[in-house]
Amino acid sequence: MTLANPWFIAAILGVLGVFHLELVTTLLNLARLGKPLPPALEEIFPEETREKLSAYITDGKRVEFIRDITMLSLLMLFWLSGGFGWLQNRVDHLGHGPVETGVFVIAIMMLAQTCLGLPFEIWSTFGVEARHGFNRTTARTFISDHLKGLVLMALIGLPVAWVVVWFFQTQARAALDAWLFMASFSVLMTFLAPRVIMPMFLQFKPMEAGPLRDAIFALAQKLDFPVHEVSVVDGSRRSSKGNAFFAGFGKARRIALYDTLLASHSNDEIVAILAHEIGHNKCRHVPVHLALGLAEMGVMLALLGWVLKSPGFFAAFGVTGTPVGMGLVLFGVLYQPLGIITGLLGLAMSRKHEFEADAFAARAVGSARPLMDGLKKLSRDHLAHPQPHPLAVLLHYSHPPLGQRLAALADR
Ligand SMILES: [Zn+2]
Repeated sequence: MTLANPWFIAAILGVLGVFHLELVTTLLNLARLGKPLPPALEEIFPEETREKLSAYITDGKRVEFIRDITMLSLLMLFWLSGGFGWLQNRVDHLGHGPVETGVFVIAIMMLAQTCLGLPFEIWSTFGVEARHGFNRTTARTFISDHLKGLVLMALIGLPVAWVVVWFFQTQARAALDAWLFMASFSVLMTFLAPRVIMPMFLQFKPMEAGPLRDAIFALAQKLDFPVHEVSVVDGSRRSSKGNAFFAGFGKARRIALYDTLLASHSNDEIVAILAHEIGHNKCRHVPVHLALGLAEMGVMLALLGWVLKSPGFFAAFGVTGTPVGMGLVLFGVLYQPLGIITGLLGLAMSRKHEFEADAFAARAVGSARPLMDGLKKLSRDHLAHPQPHPLAVLLHYSHPPLGQRLAALADR
């Protein structure tokens, strides 16, 4: 861990660079809260709403900042005091094989990260969200959600980690093998998640017969998008924020609408929002995103394969030798800044896709009006930032800001 090691300098600059970039972005974004709104947005966000959303966004960012600076300080403390090397030695002394040792190191670090993040999650859910009237999560739901998350991590995350460590420990073409494995796993998860994992957290009930259900089936038929089931999801058990829904893929398409969305939107608005989601499917956005994700994973695994063979990389973190499991953990630290760069492309593409799905929805229902009304309501109900700073949009926004979406829809 000396300044003569280029890995050490790159890692330190990367970690500190990300922190400062995020801080600057947040400050620029908060400053924009005071900027006068263009007339198109002024009617959506009257004075009273603007005061509420400024307070909500500022409170949320405060928690995020305190969390980030705490995590950064703990990471630096652990790193510079030789914590990574110490942990590796302790686990080595347990006398298991290299693969098991690696998985054990990964499990310890993930558990530590989860535990350290927990107080901030509690603060955010029961402090900020509750103070601004959004939170509906009870302590019981919060605890059971986290226990389920831990069980899933143990049942799915650890075996996946085991396979990846095994590849890099034993195979010559490990990056390619790991990529093929991770790609198959991702595809499997897109099928399993809506069927097995989401129902562990949300309750799905068939939608009652009525005009909305009829309108949804009529839309699906008109768009040649076969739907087998429309469900209502109990999002209201966690938050009062109305959320859109997701559609399963393949033959057993399931459309799910959050009960909170049903409560706050008209049938026309819901049908238009649904047409937007069907638009994502019809315009082939899902396979494009999956392909981009797999390409990003390929780049990441190739880089991982390279750093795992570089003793200098491990030395930068005070670890002797090249233990694979610890290498994965350390690569996670280094991947923070790289991930931001590779993420830019995915976010830009996602924002472009949102415009396409909006245009599709307006064509499908024969007017842009219901979607525009629905989007305005969602933004206002969520107390979203009315005009985020372009840097914040570039780094974090998967959806274009409301003003841009409305302008594009009005221009049609
Ligand atoms: Zn969308």
